[in-house]
Amino acid sequence: MIPAPFDYHRAGTLDEAIGLLARYGGDARVLAGGMSLLPTLKLRLGSFGHLVDISRIAALEYVKEEKGALRIGAGTRQATLERSEVTRKIGVLADALPLIADPLVRNRGTIGGNLANGDPSNDHPAIAIALGAELVARGPKGERSIPANRFYKDLFVTDLKADEILAELRIPLPPPRSGSAYRKLKRKTGDYAVAAVAVQLTLDSKGAVERCCIGLTNVAPTPLEAVEAQKFLVGKMPDEKTLADAARLAAKAASPSADRRGSAEYKREMVRVLCARALQAALGRART
Ligand SMILES: Cc1cc2nc3c(=O)[nH]c(=O)nc-3n(C[C@H](O)[C@H](O)[C@H](O)COP(=O)(O)OP(=O)(O)OC[C@H]3O[C@@H](n4cnc5c(N)ncnc54)[C@H](O)[C@@H]3O)c2cc1C
Repeated sequence: MIPAPFDYHRAGTLDEAIGLLARYGGDARVLAGGMSLLPTLKLRLGSFGHLVDISRIAALEYVKEEKGALRIGAGTRQATLERSEVTRKIGVLADALPLIADPLVRNRGTIGGNLANGDPSNDHPAIAIALGAELVARGPKGERSIPANRFYKDLFVTDLKADEILAELRIPLPPPRSGSAYRKLKRKTGDYAVAAVAVQLTLDSKGAVERCCIGLTNVAPTPLEAVEAQKFLVGKMPDEKTLADAARLAAKAASPSADRRGSAEYKREMVRVLCARALQAALGRART
C-alpha cells in the first residue's frame, strides 16, 4: 500500500529536530532508520502529517566509554554496534546483535529506533533493562534520564513525550566479576523472537550472586523485568538447582499471548529454558 500523505522534514541538528516536533506536536514522528516506521505507514497501521528525519544528524552516532559508562548515540546503526570493539566486551550485546533481524535491517535500523518504538518484540529493550541502562531523552525543556525498566508503559507506549527525542543509551560499565548473556529463540533469520532472555549478574568475592538483572523479550505487552527471579538469586550460591528455580520464577513473570509463534504455555516454557541457559552463560563469563 502507499502511505497516507505526509510532509517530510530533514533535520540537520538535534535542536532543529526537537523544534520541529514541538511545532507539530502529536502529528509528527521521528524517522530514524525507517525499518519499523515505514512498514507501519505503508500498511496504514498509522499515519502522521509530518516526518522528522534524524538519520543525517551525525552528532547522534557514536559509541564511547566515558565516566564509567558505555554511551551509545541513538542514531547509531545496529550494524555499527555489531562491529564495535566496545560492545563486543559486553556479552549480552555480543550475543544479541547478530541475532537481530538480518544484515540489511541492521544496516539501516538504529539503536534509538529499536528502543523508542516500544515494541516488546524488539531485543534491545530487555537488554537495556538487564544492563541497568538509562535512556537519555532531549526535549524543549532540556535533557532527562529514564531508567530502562521504567521506560515502557504499554504496547508501543513509552515514557517519551511527543516533543522529545531519545538521544542516548547509557550503560553503566559492569563491575568486576560480572557476566551477561542473551538467549533468543526465533523461527528463522529475520524473524522476531518467540521469546528471549537477557541476563547480567555480578558475583561477590565468595562466588555468591551479589546482583542480578533479567529482562524478557516478547512475552508481555511490554519488555519485562523478572523482578522475583532477580530477588531470589541475590545472596545465593549459583548452583544448578538455584539457577533452575530462578528460571522458573522468570517464566512465571511472563504473560505471553498465543500467536503464530506458539501458544502462551509454550512461550512461558521457552522463557524458563532460555533463562536457565542465559544464567549459566552469564555465570561462566562472570567467573572468568
Ligand atoms: C524484517 C524485519 C525484522 C526485524 N527483526 C527484528 C528483531 O529480530 N529484533 C529486533 O530487535 N528488531 C527487529 N526489527 C526491527 C529493527 O531492529 C528496527 O531497526 C528497529 O526496531 C527500529 O529502528 P529504526 O532506526 O529503523 O527506527 P524507525 O523505524 O525509523 O522508527 C521506529 C519508531 O521509533 C521512533 N524513533 C526512532 N528513533 C527515535 C529517537 N531517536 N527518538 C524518539 N523516537 C524515535 C519513530 O518515530 C518510530 O515510531 C526488524 C525489522 C524488520 C523490518
